[in-house]
Amino acid sequence: MFTFFIFFIIKQISLPDVIHNSTFSQQILPLVFKQRIQHLKLTPNRIMYLVKTPQLIQNLFPNFTWRIPTEEKVIYLTFDDGPIPEVTPWVLDQLKKYQAKATFFCVGENVKKNAPVFDQVVNSGHTVGNHTFNHLNGWGTENIPYFHNIRNCAHLVKSSLFRPPYGRMLPKQAQFLQRHYQIVMWDVLSGDFDPDITKEKCLENVIKNTKTGSIIVFHDSLKAKDKLEYVLPKVLEHFSKQGFRFETLKEKEEVLN
Ligand SMILES: [Zn+2]
Repeated sequence: MFTFFIFFIIKQISLPDVIHNSTFSQQILPLVFKQRIQHLKLTPNRIMYLVKTPQLIQNLFPNFTWRIPTEEKVIYLTFDDGPIPEVTPWVLDQLKKYQAKATFFCVGENVKKNAPVFDQVVNSGHTVGNHTFNHLNGWGTENIPYFHNIRNCAHLVKSSLFRPPYGRMLPKQAQFLQRHYQIVMWDVLSGDFDPDITKEKCLENVIKNTKTGSIIVFHDSLKAKDKLEYVLPKVLEHFSKQGFRFETLKEKEEVLN
């Protein structure tokens, strides 16, 4: 499951001092996000996330991949937290109907448990990325165990793409990982994991915010299953009709093993 707690991210990742200034975070940021306030959601358990990642945040972390700059009608679908037999093969079927390719950020323990499903993903021409072995939250994990966990996943998932679970990393973790991985974030978060939004709202999140080169987050997980089954076919149909194609994210050549 993904949350993107933007203000925490700003406090956690090393940034110029101005960002840590309380006036900036309390007064300037809300101004910047004024246009986005309708996308900002506070759930009862106080998980906050932004459906559309503001350009400001993308600019603050230029080494992370937020979207792929292009004028071409290309969209990058990503599926996190699988592979699992209950959802992933269904996703593959949907993608196939539209000759769509996608990127799957896999959790190592799921790959281990569901090796045939993982093989099916790879053999279908999709790209895979590392999402840690146990879906660890970087904020609550010491650096060394965090890196070991990623390495354990890397033994199963050969990829130079990494996406931190929950979008959360500590500054030192990000600095180290960037030397070996392309850190892939997103510019559109579908909210398919969110029990407090309707499937229609989840679809709207994607339709309204996607543009050329967008990286969209879905989850091939049980938690997201119901929404995904409604939203994914519609997203594929909607953007295909508009002349978009769906491609995998390209890996850097260097792979950490
Ligand atoms: Zn995840």
